[in-house]
Amino acid sequence: MAIQKTEALILKTQPFRSSSLIVTFFSRSFGKLRGLVKGVRREGETRGAMFEPFTHLEIVFYEKLRSDLHLVSESSIIESHDALRSSLESITYASYFSELVDELTEVHDPHDPIFDLLDYCFRFLASLPGEKLSRVFEIKLLAEVGWLPYLDNCLQCGNSPIEKGYFSVKQGALICTKCAHEFPDAAPLTAETLALMRYYVKHDVEASLQRTTSRTSETDLGKLLTGFILYRLGKPFKSRQFLKQILPVLR
Ligand SMILES: [Zn+2]
Repeated sequence: MAIQKTEALILKTQPFRSSSLIVTFFSRSFGKLRGLVKGVRREGETRGAMFEPFTHLEIVFYEKLRSDLHLVSESSIIESHDALRSSLESITYASYFSELVDELTEVHDPHDPIFDLLDYCFRFLASLPGEKLSRVFEIKLLAEVGWLPYLDNCLQCGNSPIEKGYFSVKQGALICTKCAHEFPDAAPLTAETLALMRYYVKHDVEASLQRTTSRTSETDLGKLLTGFILYRLGKPFKSRQFLKQILPVLR
């Protein structure tokens, strides 16, 4: 058993036996990790704020070679990210980002950019527009795990340049008007939405958030990306469904 140390963000926790927790982390050095933390629960309650979801920790753990559940022996808080816990809305967005990272990454597959992206979102979520940030987050995460939709030219005929056309969720690709009849699932993609998606792919998070967008293109892009992710994963997101329910009430 090797002893390892890394920065880690908590994606989720679940109680284990009477006094322990199983924590799913996204760590800087090892990517997604599952760790057993002993003796942190008493009478059904977790003691202290150390293991709240979204907390940024430094952890020391014993790496088990025959299991993907490691034993966490020490931990200290780097940043609690308390600001995001002040509203149900930002907690729900943070849960969605955590769920996305958990679903789209493999254990022991480090991605520094995903760690930094998640940390940035947890840090500033309370003061950022949640829906817009979600689109940028989805694009950046898809790009990092190699799932980014193909947007350069028409997947079928290679026709380029395309400024608008159709998007096939099944193919995860742009289709031109001429070829669209060959892809029954392809839905129209406006020039504005396509340009927005391409902008998010090319620019970093801060620049992407500063770009002005229309409500329509943001909504269209949201439908496109969540439809695509849903199709690829084959199951809905609990946090996304919850967001859909609470957003109309909060606004
Ligand atoms: Zn074509």
